[in-house]
Amino acid sequence: MPSCSLCRQTFVIESDETAFVQKMTFTFGKVVVHPEVPRECPMCRLKIRTAHRNERFLYKRESDKSGRDIVSVFHAKPMSPCTVWSHEEWHRDDWDAIEYGRPFDFNQSFFRQFQELQSRVPKMAVVTVGNENCEFTTGTGYCKNCYLINSSEYCEDCCYGKLFQKCRSCFDCAYIFDSELCYECFSVYTCYQCRFLSFAKNCTDCQFSTDLLGCKNCFLCANLSRKEYCFQNRQLTKEEYSKQIAVYENSYEKQQEALGELTELRKRSIHRAANIVNCENCTGDYLENSKNCRDCFDMTESEDCRHVTVGIGTKDCLDCSNMYIKPELCFMTLGTIEAYNTAYSLYIFHSQNILYSENCFHSADLFGCSGLKHKKHCILNTQYMKEEYDELVPKIIEHMKRGGEWGHYFPVTSSPFGYNESLAHEYMPLKKNEALSFGFHWRDSHDEIPAASKVINAKDLPDRMSETPDDILNWAIRCEASDRPYKIQKAELQFYRQQQLGIPRLHSEIRYENRMKLRNPRTLFERACGKCEKKTMSTFAPERPGIIYCEECYRKEAE
Ligand SMILES: [Zn+2]
Ligand SMILES: [Zn+2]
Repeated sequence: MPSCSLCRQTFVIESDETAFVQKMTFTFGKVVVHPEVPRECPMCRLKIRTAHRNERFLYKRESDKSGRDIVSVFHAKPMSPCTVWSHEEWHRDDWDAIEYGRPFDFNQSFFRQFQELQSRVPKMAVVTVGNENCEFTTGTGYCKNCYLINSSEYCEDCCYGKLFQKCRSCFDCAYIFDSELCYECFSVYTCYQCRFLSFAKNCTDCQFSTDLLGCKNCFLCANLSRKEYCFQNRQLTKEEYSKQIAVYENSYEKQQEALGELTELRKRSIHRAANIVNCENCTGDYLENSKNCRDCFDMTESEDCRHVTVGIGTKDCLDCSNMYIKPELCFMTLGTIEAYNTAYSLYIFHSQNILYSENCFHSADLFGCSGLKHKKHCILNTQYMKEEYDELVPKIIEHMKRGGEWGHYFPVTSSPFGYNESLAHEYMPLKKNEALSFGFHWRDSHDEIPAASKVINAKDLPDRMSETPDDILNWAIRCEASDRPYKIQKAELQFYRQQQLGIPRLHSEIRYENRMKLRNPRTLFERACGKCEKKTMSTFAPERPGIIYCEECYRKEAE
């Protein structure tokens, strides 16, 4: 059994993985090359890949082109050198990354030469498209007036969190779809005016609850379907319900009390073993309309994948993440749109036959390239004739094999992000010493201390919103958990007033992390259904409290 080159634990290469790398083919004249079977265990592969992506932290810095102030996912002092231009500067036609090309030097390692190239070719400050007034967002498209959200599309007036889709006026949420006026919701679909609600669909005015379907006016409830005026799963009359919940209105302290009860409720309630809907032969979590996807997470309309996290319309991929719009036959690749036959790469769009490249668009047959658009047969951003390309690439691969580089993903030391800034940390958090021991970078402080002459400790804030003056906008609040000061946005204050919510006592980053804890880690265990005892794969570890039902039993019981 091989042992993982990162964590040193033994792992198994399964027959489908061996078959996949044999199937994936790169042809250079008469020479045919296949990728290698992975050298790391699946979890470490995921860590290494996603350590190269920051979709959450934004920094104020200068553009390396114009010196103008910009907002970027790249810190002014990146962990590994990189050149950052504003979104607009990057998209202009007055430059071509081919100008950064250099010949391959057989006296140096490939990764060293690639990293040198990578550090000089300009990168986009943030990846966004078609937004209006959304400067502090990343991975967003067609949004308006949003603040500190990532990976979201078609939203308006949304703040704090990740993965909002077609939402309006939602604050502090994650994995929220087609919803409005929601607060602290997680994994909810088409919900209206709900707060502290998780794993729910088609609900209105529900609070501090989990696993609800089509409910209205429910409070501290779990596993209910099409109910109204329930409190702690007890049916009340409308009047009794209003009386019961009135004490929680407009009081931060009482709302915290309800939150504590919700945490206990989650331990007692029934959980779906996995969120797998309309799938065939799939294992993982959060899968929809897919077939033959094993050990996959957050996938829709996908087929024949293994170890893929976040994919839409993804086909025949192994060890990939953030794959959109029909990527096919990809291996150890992160962040693509419509990529085909691509391995060991990062951010490849509408391209094919790509090896060891990043940020390339509408291109084909590239090796070790960065930032190219509409190019073919390039190595280290240098243009070659097809015959030259076919002759040179196999030699470079042999050179990489001799140096022990071939078959490995980009080294984690080449990531411009600290592990704790990267996507890897969101799903697989590590402590600083652990991250450093694996060779990842770590950013000690990414604080932007807000400018405010007045600072108030969170615990000294008034309990009731009605007692909180508008002047709070001029204060910095010191977070209860992290001591980090933060400020409240005007739109945020309006929302809290309108919704009779207290001002949060925690920094938005702590709130974000607490929400992410509502998701199970991306590890599968064999569990028996708590009802029919059928064996099922679940992200609920066996030692965890809580009742796990298979999909069939869950539906019979709660829907
Ligand atoms: Zn490992
Ligand atoms: Zn069952």
